[in-house]
Amino acid sequence: MLDTLIVNIGQLLTMEGDGPVKGEQMKSLPLIEHAALGIKNGRVAWIGSNEEAEKMSASYIIDAEGKLVTPGLVDPHTHLVFAGSREHELSLKQQGISYLDILKQGGGILSTVRATRAASEEELYEKARGHLDRILSYGVTTVEAKSGYGLDVETELKQLRVAKRLNETHPVEVVSTFLGAHAIPLEYQNHPDDFLQQMVDLMDVMKRERLAEFVDIFCETGVFSVEQSRIFLQQAKEKGFAVKIHADEIDPLGGTELAVEVGAVSADHLVGASIAGIHQLAHSNTIAVLLPGTSFYLGKGTYANARAMIDQGAAVALATDFNPGSSPTENLQFIMTLAALYLRMTPEEIWHAVTINAAYAVNRGHEAGRIMIGRKADIVLWEAPNYMYVPYHYGINHVRMVLKNGKVVSERGKGDVSVS
Ligand SMILES: [Zn+2]
Repeated sequence: MLDTLIVNIGQLLTMEGDGPVKGEQMKSLPLIEHAALGIKNGRVAWIGSNEEAEKMSASYIIDAEGKLVTPGLVDPHTHLVFAGSREHELSLKQQGISYLDILKQGGGILSTVRATRAASEEELYEKARGHLDRILSYGVTTVEAKSGYGLDVETELKQLRVAKRLNETHPVEVVSTFLGAHAIPLEYQNHPDDFLQQMVDLMDVMKRERLAEFVDIFCETGVFSVEQSRIFLQQAKEKGFAVKIHADEIDPLGGTELAVEVGAVSADHLVGASIAGIHQLAHSNTIAVLLPGTSFYLGKGTYANARAMIDQGAAVALATDFNPGSSPTENLQFIMTLAALYLRMTPEEIWHAVTINAAYAVNRGHEAGRIMIGRKADIVLWEAPNYMYVPYHYGINHVRMVLKNGKVVSERGKGDVSVS
């Protein structure tokens, strides 16, 4: 006897397979038409046809009404925990004031750092919990969350303690990344290496308190160089962390090549990645995490070269980059539309990028991103008739119901949230 049986599934995207899905393989989507799915003890216990389901018994039956059912989505790059908001910067941007000038006026990331330092742990928790509710409502069951709005010992710890508590209390699994090397704080403008050393020392506390699995760095002109990033990430690896890189977001510095060199689990942004860097990436185990929402919101019309990455054989994932400055959205479904329009990814490639490849980008490829017997039952029931419909009908939420570990944790019309 099953705990839950989902019947009358029009299209079931199982994403069945082995390992991350690279290059050409992203073009074919493992799916079953007219399927049914059984759950027992929080895990997928049975997959069959809708006719076969008539012989099965279960305590609870959900009718998918002939619509789409997929694995829970994974958002592998967010800056979930922060205080404040920066809506006033939108009009500054419209007036043609550059981000660098906004920064000089104490705006930009530095204003978020100020607000986050000033906020209590409880305030940060309540705000992030609201954002996480909304992330869940869009069908995401696993999310990565970075620190990096403290840039000092106390606040970086505070952000990661909030993320840890969210992971313990919220249905969504939260994978934590220590991004102390997100920017150079004002008090260290003239000696950034001392700041990096302070962040390296902080890694020992992170390890002891199990506050982060990943360490990340912002490798960019005017922030941290490739050489600083190499040393920093090697130290992180020696301390037992998996690593990620904010690489080549604006300039082709060589962050993509560095990601491959240090064996990063993911290289993120990659808008400026060189052809040589893309080639190396395609022949590595590093996942390319692309953030078209950030390119869209910056409004410069330049996007990562996803076509070259996929054509050369890379495994590509997509993320919101949810943050208060360059990508204030929790909506991964909108990112899927942007990927179709501006990264020229096909619907089949896009679904790989928000499920199994995204799971691999946060070291959860063995348990999330696929619907297979024995895996955790993280499942989304959609109002969409088929998988192509989701990126097509844009800007809205197509999710009807979300299950995490076999339990209904979000349902259309119930628990709708309003946060800012
Ligand atoms: Zn980021």
